[in-house]
Amino acid sequence: MTENEIKKDNSYHIAASNICVIGAGFVGLVTASGLAQFGHKVVCVDTDKSKIDELTNGRVPFYEPDLQQLVRDNLNKKTISFSDNLADSVRGKDVVFIAVGTPSGVDGRAELSNIDSVCRELAEILSGKEILVLKSTVPLGTSERVKKIFEKAGKDAPPVVSCPEFLREARAVHDFFYPSRILIGGDNDDAKKKIAEIFLKGVNAAVPIVSTDNKTAELVKYAANAFLATKIGFVNELAGFCDLLGVNIKDVSKYIGMDPRIGTKFMEPGPGWGGSCFMKDLSELMGLAKTKDFSLLITNAVLKANEKQFELVYEKVCELLSNIKDKKIAVLGLAFKAETSDMRYSPAIPIINKLLQSGARVIAYDPKASEGAREFIPGIDLADDAYKTAESADCLLILTEWNEFRSLDLEKLAETMNSKNIVDARNLLDPALARKLGFKYIGMGQN
Ligand code: NAD
Repeated sequence: MTENEIKKDNSYHIAASNICVIGAGFVGLVTASGLAQFGHKVVCVDTDKSKIDELTNGRVPFYEPDLQQLVRDNLNKKTISFSDNLADSVRGKDVVFIAVGTPSGVDGRAELSNIDSVCRELAEILSGKEILVLKSTVPLGTSERVKKIFEKAGKDAPPVVSCPEFLREARAVHDFFYPSRILIGGDNDDAKKKIAEIFLKGVNAAVPIVSTDNKTAELVKYAANAFLATKIGFVNELAGFCDLLGVNIKDVSKYIGMDPRIGTKFMEPGPGWGGSCFMKDLSELMGLAKTKDFSLLITNAVLKANEKQFELVYEKVCELLSNIKDKKIAVLGLAFKAETSDMRYSPAIPIINKLLQSGARVIAYDPKASEGAREFIPGIDLADDAYKTAESADCLLILTEWNEFRSLDLEKLAETMNSKNIVDARNLLDPALARKLGFKYIGMGQN
């Protein structure tokens, strides 16, 4: 146990707490339903009335494995409820978690209007006994900013605990119950102990629950995402180099990953990283560095390299088709990764837009993201399954690593496509088999 690890004593029973979670998005909903599963009594509140109506009826408005079942189980047990009324929802609560969005503003810095407006409202309605927990990813100094909002409203600031979320979308429910660590930042030991107990009620005693100050907790979240993006960026770059060298990236990744200092996770090349967090968090970190006159050279390079990766995928399509104007490109996968419906900052967006701007005709399919795809790529043509997408196409472009694409029937595709071309930006298919069937196949660093 490290010096900062909060001591766990499983010999006593931890009482259920009354909790309000503000924000019913990926993080808020997983936190609320996970805490309810631990036996706490939870109200999850959101300003989006239609979302609250759906949740009250047991329907999760986005795809996240196991989440809908978790919500339904806890609705049945009456351990969770949903509301769009903040004042009613926080009344009588011990702890209020804030999990609202913190998107990038026009200057690339985190935009805190959701946090500010929630805190201004809370300053009017909290009784003074609650603990406030920042689950949203927030810039350094936000806990102080929150306290000032209360002081400006003439109220004593509550203890503010920074408890950043490290869950992975597509594995969010699993990660809630089996987190790598729970980081609890703050300057009030009693408040931190209370938050630790809330998690200890349900998580395995082996999970490290670590205590730090607010600023460290806030920075750890940004640093973690910058490091993960760097790792993916490095493998993507190496895959591009492997293309030139005639070396297989799968072997290189596997053999360097055997060194425990490097590890085997996040070692597969792809079309560039995406998702709601990396881009905005790296951009906030860059903005913060600028205010301190500090150069984050590596993070800056990672951002640029990722844009280059989108270009690289586009160029691979061009390489196969020579002239892509009026050619039909069948895109498989729109979500930024498999097992999610989330298209925020998905590589599919810049890649498809570039194809469309070049005069190509694009038709796409994603097992879970198709429904909301037009919000991100207006006017995109969509098909109902992979084979319909590929009919009479000049090139198949795989962008998301859905399992169903790994087992595509290449013979069936060969019969219905106009030209047998595949760009496999996730290395899902067997290149030898594809070539045997007459396809021109380009993967990522494995040709
Ligand atoms: P999201 O957009 O899915 O959900 C945010 C929710 O907050 C929305 O439902 C929105 O309606 C609601 N909201 C906004 N203002 C509100 C207000 N004033 N009162 C009540 N509800 C309000 O966002 P998310 O992906 O859940 O992310 C939330 C935070 O968690 C962000 O700071 C994000 O960076 C962080 N985070 C996200 C992930 C992830 O994988 N999505 C992982 C770790 C941390």
